[in-house]
Amino acid sequence: MNSAYEKTLKILIVEDEALFDVLLQRMLAKSSLPIAQIESAKSLDAAFKLLDNSQFDVVLLDLNLPDSSGLDTLVRTSQQYPNVAIVVVTGSDDEEVGLEQIARYAQEYLVKGTFNLETLDKCVRYAVERKHANRKLQLAEEKYRAIFENSAVAIMVADEKERLVSWNRFTESFLGMTREDLYLRPVKNFYPVEEWRKIRAYNVRQKGMQHHIETRMIKKDGTIIDVDISLSVLKNSEGRMTDSIGIVRDITERKQIQEILDRKQKNLEAIFDAAPVGMLLIDENGVVKRVNDVIRQIVHRRQYSQIVNQPAGDALSCINSSYSEKGCGYSPACPACPFRKVIQIVLDSEKSFRGVEIQLTLEVDNSRITPWFGISAEPVVIDGRKHVVVAISDITSHKEAEKKLQETMEMKSQFVSTVSHELRTPLAAMKEGVAIVLEGVAGRVNEKQKKFLDIAKRNADRLGALINDVLDFQKLEADRTELDIQNNDIGKVACEVQETMALCAKQKAVELSFELAEDVPQAKFDYSKMVQVLMNLVGNAIKFTPEKGRVSVNIQHGNGELFIRVSDTGMGIPKEALSKIFERFYRVSRPSTQIQGTGLGLAIVKKIIMMHGGRIDVESEVDHGTTFAVSLPLAAKSTRKVPHRELDEFLEDNIVNKQTCIE
Ligand code: ADP
Repeated sequence: MNSAYEKTLKILIVEDEALFDVLLQRMLAKSSLPIAQIESAKSLDAAFKLLDNSQFDVVLLDLNLPDSSGLDTLVRTSQQYPNVAIVVVTGSDDEEVGLEQIARYAQEYLVKGTFNLETLDKCVRYAVERKHANRKLQLAEEKYRAIFENSAVAIMVADEKERLVSWNRFTESFLGMTREDLYLRPVKNFYPVEEWRKIRAYNVRQKGMQHHIETRMIKKDGTIIDVDISLSVLKNSEGRMTDSIGIVRDITERKQIQEILDRKQKNLEAIFDAAPVGMLLIDENGVVKRVNDVIRQIVHRRQYSQIVNQPAGDALSCINSSYSEKGCGYSPACPACPFRKVIQIVLDSEKSFRGVEIQLTLEVDNSRITPWFGISAEPVVIDGRKHVVVAISDITSHKEAEKKLQETMEMKSQFVSTVSHELRTPLAAMKEGVAIVLEGVAGRVNEKQKKFLDIAKRNADRLGALINDVLDFQKLEADRTELDIQNNDIGKVACEVQETMALCAKQKAVELSFELAEDVPQAKFDYSKMVQVLMNLVGNAIKFTPEKGRVSVNIQHGNGELFIRVSDTGMGIPKEALSKIFERFYRVSRPSTQIQGTGLGLAIVKKIIMMHGGRIDVESEVDHGTTFAVSLPLAAKSTRKVPHRELDEFLEDNIVNKQTCIE
């Protein structure tokens, strides 16, 4: 059964002739229609009141009523109640209302006196069905019209002659044109000539449709905009092409953004390619995704295809890659490869890594080379995936120069040591000889001779001290001195220094005092080196303090450190010299005094303190005195340079300690 019948019908009879009204009511009551209610109205006004108050399905409408007649009755009813099916019930003489008009506004019509029960039944059924179908169609049309009108894209319909006949509101604002501008405008006028040619070339009329044509359109003010058009052709019921529809999107902004991105991409690529150091982009699987020309030079101009999309070791022609058929990562040496480690650490930690120096063995042009590279690696995310940008600079020549310099330094140091050693023996003999003569063993020495012999002795002593200092310093500089770190008592060191220096202080009439806090614990340090430090500081303090002055040594501890302060009330150090006194051979110029020295003492002191992982500071005021403050960790470790074979620990330490990592 049709859905329209499922509900029961409410019928309104609008008829001023009582007889006919009764007749209709009776016929309807007898009909097979599922009627729920029948109401009657004798005038149009009364009918409208009923229609306002209640929802009727069908109106049986006589056109000639006391308050309205003819077509007017029909038009008013159908316009005011568009959801109600209308069956016009006319008299046979009602000729002024044409059938065409009735068909336009009503769903069915009956001529009084010419229909029977069956006809009435059918008429009502058809009227309800037709109204229902019309209503559905109308709603659908309204829906599509709303979509059409409210679309945020321009929808344009052109007729067979390629003139615009229909468009939505957006088209007007999109092109800045009015209805008058648009109506029947030839479509080709919307495009620059060459673009129209391009569109034509798609042959849309033959193909039926073409999506996403990127082209340009001209707005009313002459501005050109980038658009994306989808075109399709409509066919009529005979299959003939009639209208064509264009759906147009403004892509100017998208194009602009794309252009900016393209330009940015090109710039970045240009920078990458033109960088004066080798640049590699490596993905999370260790595969090289991009390189610049410097990398090609490093690997002796191999083809890009031999480098790009290859594991890093293969790309760089690493010798270890050639040891395994599977290439980079599979030879026994690969797990220890510093290059692979750096990449892995950066991928895992997502932190930059700077300034690692590594040596690789590469096989290029059938020969083996062992270049040194300085490497910095930066994590980047590209298309949501982790990558590493690696900057590689060939530092082989720099490394060679460094090695040569090192060798030269070692030669020099060897030379100085040899010369100093060679000087020591004859000097000792000379000192011995002078001492014997001075003591009078070789005969009586007169005052004048004694004076010259004293000068010779003083100079020989000075030379001896200088040789000792030079040898000491040389050893420390060349990192040939290993500290003998043991658990030691700083108090013992202080006592030894006090005993040794007491006589010297007394001779100069300088008061020397030592103060050691009670609870100072044992500490780890090199005993003899610490004696050397304290001797030097106390020796200097006595040397630069005039008679009746005071020199005091104070030893304390706290926060895991030993604090040793050596203060004097001597001549002090000028401010401008304070930063230089720890430099080797630097001596403050004191022309009015005859104080001797080598200028190496404080350089040696500083070196020893640094090797213990400690610090030395100085405060001084001219003519008032000087204080040297030493801080030493209670548990000193010997610090040495990092040899390359320990790169492993070095890399890990640096990540952990974040010394070379940049957050
Ligand atoms: P030097 O052999 O000349 O003593 P050092 O390296 O021990 O060499 O000291 C460098 C310079 O620092 C000295 O020449 C001296 O002028 C200055 N100096 C060091 N200690 C003191 C001090 N306690 N008082 C004043 N000047 C000092």
